Amino acid sequence: MIQEIQLRVLPQVAADSTQLRNYIVNVKGIAQSALKGVRILKRSVDARQRTIFVNLKVRLYINEMPADDEFVHTDYPDVSGRPQVIVVGAGPGGLFAALRLIELGLRPIVLERGKDVHERKKDLAAISRTQQVDGESNYCFGEGGAGAYSDGKLYTRSKKRGNTEKILNVFCQHGASTAILADAHPHIGTDRLPQVIEAMRHTILRCGGEVHFQTKMTHLLVEQDKVVGCEAGERSFMGPVILATGHSARDVYEYFAKENIEMEAKGIAVGVRLEHPSMLIDQIQYHRKEGRGQWLPAAEYSFVTQVDGRGVYSFCMCPGGFVIPAATGPEQVVVNGMSPANRGTQWSNSGMVVELRPEDIEGSDVLRVMRYQEQLERHCWQQANMKQTAPAQRMADFVNGRLSYDLPRSSYAPGLVASPLHFWLPQPVASRLQQGFKVFGRQAHGFLTNEAVLIGVETRTSSPLRIVRSADTLQHVRLQGLFPCGEGAGYAGGIVSAAVDGERCAEMCAQYLSQPA
Ligand SMILES: Cc1cc2nc3c(=O)[nH]c(=O)nc-3n(C[C@H](O)[C@H](O)[C@H](O)COP(=O)(O)OP(=O)(O)OC[C@H]3O[C@@H](n4cnc5c(N)ncnc54)[C@H](O)[C@@H]3O)c2cc1C
Repeated sequence: MIQEIQLRVLPQVAADSTQLRNYIVNVKGIAQSALKGVRILKRSVDARQRTIFVNLKVRLYINEMPADDEFVHTDYPDVSGRPQVIVVGAGPGGLFAALRLIELGLRPIVLERGKDVHERKKDLAAISRTQQVDGESNYCFGEGGAGAYSDGKLYTRSKKRGNTEKILNVFCQHGASTAILADAHPHIGTDRLPQVIEAMRHTILRCGGEVHFQTKMTHLLVEQDKVVGCEAGERSFMGPVILATGHSARDVYEYFAKENIEMEAKGIAVGVRLEHPSMLIDQIQYHRKEGRGQWLPAAEYSFVTQVDGRGVYSFCMCPGGFVIPAATGPEQVVVNGMSPANRGTQWSNSGMVVELRPEDIEGSDVLRVMRYQEQLERHCWQQANMKQTAPAQRMADFVNGRLSYDLPRSSYAPGLVASPLHFWLPQPVASRLQQGFKVFGRQAHGFLTNEAVLIGVETRTSSPLRIVRSADTLQHVRLQGLFPCGEGAGYAGGIVSAAVDGERCAEMCAQYLSQPA
């Protein structure tokens, strides 16, 4: 017999399979020998009260062996010789588009400007050593896209649970822990993601698809408003194009603007990374001096408020993580965050950002939000002595408009330099952040502190443009055979939503190819 039940247990019981089994045997009055298996289906921490509990939904196998797989397998057939589709970009959008194309019997040809996920790692390590960023291989460009060396948080605000669950199951099929299917806030971790991404590439290749690294799409091939392929330097690739180039491919936006390919300016959010000692965040969120202890995960937080008509909020929180240099070219300093699977570092960080709408920036140029990002990142680089060291200020000093005379230890490997962020950040951003931090400090006692440091600047929160597409066919509004996809197209924000969008673009592309020419 299979039975599903809800439990509310102490963290140490939830964390230890033997203790959990004994607990179930006792409360349900089942004989030890009759309980053949226990599978956790849902897990969330409830830290609202002094005693912290873990809520579990578990499936019990009573007098019956667990026979079902822990995740749903997808079949990937051989697509050699089948019609081909060009997928530009090997981030989550592009990779999931390629895998879905295979499911649908089409042959994906993936073009990626950066290197494979392992070679790329060497270029990331070099940033701290050389203070230089490789414009084609960095935290945003390369196999796995911006999602590869990230936190790997896999939650989304999307309400379409079916789609999200498919994505999580595909991750499991490629080596991610099945814990992501149960956790309320699943994440893979930057140390585990590369193997998962590599396994996805192997599926594509094994099924007869192609993956070309260091192959940058430079032009679309267009015949009478129909995209028939694209060029990457000297090479041409023929077929409809799923364009999943991410939010940092500014050369793609420049090219589209020059060719008058329809796009529109889109709002983003800009601000800083805020880094606290993780112990402090654990103490605040779990309301106890000893912090998370042995059994609880590093604590998360989420803050949001409105200041002068614009949202101020925490973004992409990385408990037990690192702040990293996320620029994609010279003369930029951009920061972001990531964390390993165990979320075990001494720091917890998050973006602290202010909403910016296209109408907040003067002019009507479609590229104006992107230009604003560029200017701010360049200004930050100048403040950082023209290196990848990042300008930083203690949190309370920032709120009180004081320069920090020293800085706390930080996870940011290229190093920090003390800087008056309150003074040089754009005034609408600085003053809203100052007011927002006061609100958050009132909501969480101890959060607004000089033990925390602000690191500038966080600008790549989402795409500054939308490549306009039809809501029905997901094709570009004018160019047939072009499927703008994922975050760079302005239709996703995050790993899971980009992956879901990749699958949808693949489906629409299959429909397009099935129509008579
Ligand atoms: C450090 C960091 C941490 C993050 N953490 C999380 C997280 O924990 N959870 C989460 O949900 N989201 C996170 N994000 C955001 C997430 O990574 C993105 O939303 C997601 O990767 C977008 O997917 P995408 O496929 O649309 O684009 P990208 O992942 O940006 O992929 C685009 C790909 O296209 C390639 N490309 C660009 N131009 C060309 C060209 N001309 N020719 C060929 N290839 C090209 C790029 O090299 C890149 O590999 C993080 C981002 C960063 C930078």
